[in-house]
Amino acid sequence: MSKLLRHLPSVDTLLQSEAVQELLARFPRVVVVDAIRAVLDETRAAVLSGAPRAPGRESEIADLARYTGPITAACDRLMSPSLRRVINATGIVIHTNLGRAPIAPSVFERARDIAARYTNLEFDLASGKRGSRHTHAESLLTRLTGAESAVVVNNCAAALLTSLHAHAHGREVIVSRGELVEIGGSFRLPDIMKASGAKLVEVGTTNRTRARDYQDAITEQTAAILKVHQSNFRIEGFTEEVTVDELSEITREAGLKLLYDLGSGSFLRVGKGAEPTVTDEMKRGADVVMMSGDKLLGSVQAGIMLGRAPAIDVIRKSALMRAVRPDKVTLSLLESTLLYYLEPARALGEIPVLRLIERPLRAIKEDAEAIRDALRARLPENAVEMEIVEGKSEAGGGAIGQPAMDTALLALTFPDRSPDEIAAALRQRPVPVVARIYRDRLWIDPRTLFADDHDPLVAALAAVIEEQGENT
Ligand SMILES: *Cc1c(COP(=O)(O)O)cnc(C)c1O
Repeated sequence: MSKLLRHLPSVDTLLQSEAVQELLARFPRVVVVDAIRAVLDETRAAVLSGAPRAPGRESEIADLARYTGPITAACDRLMSPSLRRVINATGIVIHTNLGRAPIAPSVFERARDIAARYTNLEFDLASGKRGSRHTHAESLLTRLTGAESAVVVNNCAAALLTSLHAHAHGREVIVSRGELVEIGGSFRLPDIMKASGAKLVEVGTTNRTRARDYQDAITEQTAAILKVHQSNFRIEGFTEEVTVDELSEITREAGLKLLYDLGSGSFLRVGKGAEPTVTDEMKRGADVVMMSGDKLLGSVQAGIMLGRAPAIDVIRKSALMRAVRPDKVTLSLLESTLLYYLEPARALGEIPVLRLIERPLRAIKEDAEAIRDALRARLPENAVEMEIVEGKSEAGGGAIGQPAMDTALLALTFPDRSPDEIAAALRQRPVPVVARIYRDRLWIDPRTLFADDHDPLVAALAAVIEEQGENT
């Protein structure tokens, strides 16, 4: 084998070959050299492990032409950004792993101007003096929610961190044991509390916390009560929690602050039986309400803090603010999205998250049928079994109060192939497709497909199914 490897071409030999010289016109030299090295390493490893497709003879391993395809593919890979568009066929509208809210393309027009040119980010045009970036989204936020004051940071976790730091650093914050949540990978409420310098005081039990529990825990050291929306789980059965209205009475009487982490707040009621809006929540008396920008609001990643002017002022002046302040592109995208909310009908038409949640079952079923028919036309008979089944799509993104929505799914069954293999191949497509797997079938939920997703989706499914057929 090592004898065979002696005939593996060198990097220089390949670089001098005509085909690779042509690649140098398309790709930077460093990329071509890295690609050659990678392909040679792969070939060496394949020979040593006796892989079925590895070259077995001297003439094969020395043949320069066999390396052109893999080197070109490696160059393409090295030159494509790691962050790419994918097709979300899961039906989960706010999918944290797939980038949460898709943002309305129309809001990028202004953001592009803002990003590519100079702006009044921190410049007061009226006075000609230094201004504050925190004024930009504030008037829209207060107008839309009825809050006295508002401030924007990078995400809701940063909002929690900053508000706790500003109001309770070195002091105690009371939280119900039923609300000590973990939200996705690395977001655990007790950890955020610790990082903020606030001391966590747990009260009640997992399933029941009463007003008395909070009142009994108040000491000289208490700065605030924190209420956290149970965003990604539910406790059912024998439960009791204290409402925000009751908590605001308790904090007002005791001279404490009430901080309320709403998570996925919405400015409009969308879908059947939706939760109260942020405007409704504002009326319940919390000093600071926090929410994400890229969940039900349907905009860019941001953390929005709304509330009473003195409470928001303290946060705005906190030392941490500098570390969590949003950039001009975020502020522009957020402001342009908020403008739509001034006209609810416009918001429903323009903001993708709202549109996808509101999509009627009939339209989704038509999409499922169109995908099925297009696949049927492209594939040999019996290549795949297809059935349209009614089911549920989810809002996702910790919007558990947002009820599941009726949908129509296209369920695919493959002869001799597991749905996992098909799903893996779909993820390797030029526009990767992410679908659901359940009960040995692959499920496509058209709710989260955009109109221009259909063609690449059908092409991907057809290619992957046919490829699999050839191999068997
Ligand atoms: C999602 C969520 C967060 C975290 O929000 P990010 O914007 O992702 O930082 C915090 N609290 C609750 C209740 C949430 O649902």
